[in-house]
Order: sequence, then structure tokens, then C-alpha cells
Amino acid sequence: MNYYERSLDALMHAYRRYQITFDHGEGVYLYDTDQKKYLDFFSGIGVNSFGYHYPEYIVSMEKQLHRLMHISNYFNTVETIEAAECVKKATKMDKVFFTNSGAESTEGALKLARKYYFKKHGKADSEIIALNHSFHGRTTGSVRLTGNENYQKAFGPLIEGVKHANINDLESVKALINEKTAGIIVEPVQGEGGVYVCTQEFMQGLRQLCDEHDIALILDEVQCGMGRTGTIMTYFQYGILPDILCLAKGIGAGFPMGAFAANEKFSNAMEPGDHGSTYGGNPMAGNACRTVFKIIDEKNILEHVQNISQYVAEKLDELAEKYDCIIERRGLGLMIGLEFDRPVKDIVQKCLDHGLIVVTAGANVVRMLPPLIIEKEHVDEMTAILDQAIQETLS
Ligand SMILES: *Cc1c(COP(=O)(O)O)cnc(C)c1O
Repeated sequence: MNYYERSLDALMHAYRRYQITFDHGEGVYLYDTDQKKYLDFFSGIGVNSFGYHYPEYIVSMEKQLHRLMHISNYFNTVETIEAAECVKKATKMDKVFFTNSGAESTEGALKLARKYYFKKHGKADSEIIALNHSFHGRTTGSVRLTGNENYQKAFGPLIEGVKHANINDLESVKALINEKTAGIIVEPVQGEGGVYVCTQEFMQGLRQLCDEHDIALILDEVQCGMGRTGTIMTYFQYGILPDILCLAKGIGAGFPMGAFAANEKFSNAMEPGDHGSTYGGNPMAGNACRTVFKIIDEKNILEHVQNISQYVAEKLDELAEKYDCIIERRGLGLMIGLEFDRPVKDIVQKCLDHGLIVVTAGANVVRMLPPLIIEKEHVDEMTAILDQAIQETLS
């Protein structure tokens, strides 16, 4: 059996995996087990912000591995305290809870919004508003928030009290608010749902609605946060702050971790015994997180993302000009979607054949989440391969 056949034999069929088996990575390139080289414009779903084998990250993690890996949340470690301080400073939130994944972050945010409601009303009957086409994770709480019935229908009964409104349609949100509403959860840029960006008007309107009703504005920046859109958090581009924030993916840059954070008002609702995690924010994760913030700072990653993402946009607009089958380029910073007038499965497969990793978001959208450290030469290489893949698919 080859690796692909062995994977079918041994791994549960929860994913439709590509037939590639990877061996190692270097810079922004990955190598499969046949040593074929791939330019990576996906970063393990926007996780590997610094690509592979990034010296400062590797050295720091290696040191931590020797010093201390795990200790439990019965005790403190310096790494975890410093990681929380980094998150506080960068996000302007007041308190941080570390998790191991994005789904755990949205679950935690959900519990925190419910707890605030419970303390205020003395009842556990709250409702949450989420958006259609959103993605918040796969656990039975987070998948209920996710605005995609295909992910939910076999797994009921799911948690009660979740309603869905439409992105950039403030009236549709208003229509769902009532005295039981505890919070509204939104991705400033919808990732999995097809790379849709919230408008200024919508986000500022949500902030105002949440203030008026004393309910939580929960921003899920699991994918769009940590510098991917050119600011450390995307909400800074909207001139607002959330009440509760969800992070994961880029926060560990490859080490599995997540966090939810909140302002004073909402974090005060959390009391000892309300929530917990065995691994959450262990010293390895804490060290990964503080190292990620240090690298973003010292290497001027945000400025780089702002510049390079403009170049990517120019190049993709040239492609869109050339091909009528490209309907629209969407996204913010290095969260990129290219919508076609047809399914893009074949284009994506051809890109992979030619050594470029991109994926789909919905049937008609090519999605890219490159490492934040890509340079112009990599953008040129990407556009050349994508151009060729489109040509071959059309002919
Ligand atoms: C990926 C993602 C999640 C879920 O994260 P997991 O680590 O897969 O549990 C939640 N929200 C958003 C916006 C995501 O992109």
C-alpha cells in the first residue's frame, strides 16, 4: 500500500484528503515524500505564519522543549503569564483564557457570554446570534454557531437558542435581538464561508447594537487575526473593540493553541470552577504564543503584510483582467479569495500538480492563506502557476 492507501485504511474518513503526503518544509516551500517541491499558499489553513523552519521560532521552541512542556492550570508558568500579557497588549482586551483550538475558543466565548447573561438575569435561557456562511468550529456548541446546516444536520440535538442573520445586513441582526439575546458572534472576514469581508458600517452598527442592549460583541478572529489582514487584529481596521475575542490558528504558528479574551466587564463574569482545560496554555503553547508576538514585532511583519498583500492584489487583478471566468477578487490582507464563474476543483488540482498549494472555499472560490513572510518572487511564482492552471483547465 502507498501512503494514501494506508491513510484510507487507518484514518477515519472525516476528510476528503488530497493524495499528497508531506515530508518536511523549508521557508515557504513544502516537500512531499517523493521530494517534490510545493510553494505553500495555504499555511496549514493560515496557521504557519512564518512558513517552515523559521530560525527564531525553532530555537525558542527547542529551548522550551528541554525546559518544561506541561504543568496543568493548577500552577503558573512564566511562559503562560507572558503570553497572556502579549495578548492583552496586542488586543486591548483585559483578561485571557488559553485553549487548544479555535473551536474551544468559540465554545469558551459562548460560555462567557451566557455566564454574563446568567449573572444579570438569573436565568440560563439565553440566545446567541451568528451569521449565515460563518464558520466557528466543529464541536456541538461551535458547530451550532456555524452558519452551514450541512455540518449540523446529523448531530442533533445541538445547543438551543442560536439564530442566524446575514452578513452586512444590520436589519437582519436587529430583527433577531430580543430580551434573551446574550451576544452576537461574527468573523470580521469570513474564511471558510468564502472570504467575505464585513463592511465598516456593519461592524460599527454591531458595536452600537451590542452597547445599546448590553450584550456581548464576540469577534471570531481565529483565522483573520494575528496579523493576517495587516493589523494585529482585524477589528482595529474598523475602529471598534469586541467584548469577547476568539483566537487560534496563527497564535501558535504551528503549535496547537487558541485563546479567548474579554474586556473587564465580561471577564468578570467568569468565576473559579466555571471553565477549564488540562492543556490550555501549557508552557509549550505559552512559549509559542509569546515567541509569535515577538517575531511579529521584531520583524515588522504587519508592515510587510500591508505591502506584500497590495502586490498580491495587483497581480491577481491582472489575472482577473485576463480571464473572463474570474468574477471577483475578495479578501483583506493575506486572506484571499478568487471567485470564478464555475467550480474550481480542477484549477486547484492543476495548481497542486504544478507545485502550488491553494484550496477551495465553497465550489467556485480559490482560497489562499500564504505565510505572512512571502516575498514578491513567491507572488510571481504563484501567479505564473495559477495562470497556467487556468489556461489548461479552459482548453
Ligand atoms: C478554523 C476556525 C475555527 C475552528 O478552529 P479549530 O482549531 O479548527 O477548532 C473557528 N473559527 C474560525 C473563524 C476558523 O477559521
